[in-house]
Amino acid sequence: MFMTEPFVVGVDLGGTKVEACLLDADRRILERVRLPSEAEKGADRVIENIRRVIDAVSAGRDYAAVGMGTPATYMEDEDRLFGAPHTPLYEKPGFIRRFRDSLPVPLLIENDANCLALAEFFAGCSGTYRSVMAVILGTGMGSGLILENKLYRGAAGGAGEIGHTSVNVDGRLCGCGRKGCAEAYLSGPSHTRLFFERTGKRLALQEIYSLYEQGDRQAVELLNESCRVMAAVFADAVNILDLEAIILGGGVSNLSLWYSRVPPLMKDSFFGIPRPEFPLISAKLGDSAGVVGAAYLALRHLGLMDF
Ligand SMILES: [Zn+2]
Repeated sequence: MFMTEPFVVGVDLGGTKVEACLLDADRRILERVRLPSEAEKGADRVIENIRRVIDAVSAGRDYAAVGMGTPATYMEDEDRLFGAPHTPLYEKPGFIRRFRDSLPVPLLIENDANCLALAEFFAGCSGTYRSVMAVILGTGMGSGLILENKLYRGAAGGAGEIGHTSVNVDGRLCGCGRKGCAEAYLSGPSHTRLFFERTGKRLALQEIYSLYEQGDRQAVELLNESCRVMAAVFADAVNILDLEAIILGGGVSNLSLWYSRVPPLMKDSFFGIPRPEFPLISAKLGDSAGVVGAAYLALRHLGLMDF
């Protein structure tokens, strides 16, 4: 295969796994490797595992920079990740600096939902739309924003926490400690809990969806409500940001009902300027989006991408 130098590495640091890819200057994926992160064995082991996936994908080739997506927001001046309650180890001050110091090249860090947004935007719709939100909906709910072709981070990198916007001020308790967050209704585990409370049956969302397709009354009621909640949250984002499309990724995104049912419901919640039926787009890159978007950070650092 023809390869254009320089090469860059993208890393996706997850709670349970760490993955890396090697990209060339034309954004071709040359290698991809995944390992368990082993966060339960401490910071040294995690850093060692990140180095192992980087060494595995680079395989002796020189790379010019590393981009890394993390399950939280990194604040450089405090050298800390904020918002990773499931992996407290990553939130400890100094963790990122130690990893950075072990690298021979620059390290760029970004929230993993922002990395997903970058990858999906450039893979699927950068020629069609300029302002999109990419939502990752699985065990949790987050999003990345591309506004006017630029990654929008907010003042300190914390923008896009759509999962922790309120759909009911007295609503269900969210994992973040607040009541009524969208995540407490729309995540995979939230569906399991909601269905259990109504039926006494503990089922994964995919199983609830099978019942829905068979016309099971409880499943139909629950997923009808989920569509209404999702439509309200997404319409709010469109009303605030004047988005052109929303991309949906993550483990919950593969149910076809979202794409047929949610856009018509959103239409009823739009305010102001007339809008056609809103494009709700299924993510295209699957679980490689995070690692590819992270590599894009490195390409931007080298002046090879603009966002
Ligand atoms: Zn919350």
